[in-house]
Amino acid sequence: MQILFRGLPTITETDLIADSKHDAVCPICYNTFVAIIAEEETSRAMDSPAHPVEELGVTKLERTCGHLFCRKELSETPFLPVRPANPSVAAS
Ligand SMILES: [Zn+2]
Repeated sequence: MQILFRGLPTITETDLIADSKHDAVCPICYNTFVAIIAEEETSRAMDSPAHPVEELGVTKLERTCGHLFCRKELSETPFLPVRPANPSVAAS
């Protein structure tokens, strides 16, 4: 799972605006993506954040459905289509 996360893009507020998703909410937790990105930035500024920073923020499943999600839920929700398109990559 962790290796998979590193391959996913980190979505910034600039990306949201460019994608006309500035007001969009996460389909799982219904928080706005801007709020989730703000939480990630707060955690980066802390010495000991409650969650690892690599599990915070917003990412995009661009190889599958193209939807935006919180990384936090991706790490906790095994049924989401997080597998890479190429099965031989997932087998490692
Ligand atoms: Zn969420």
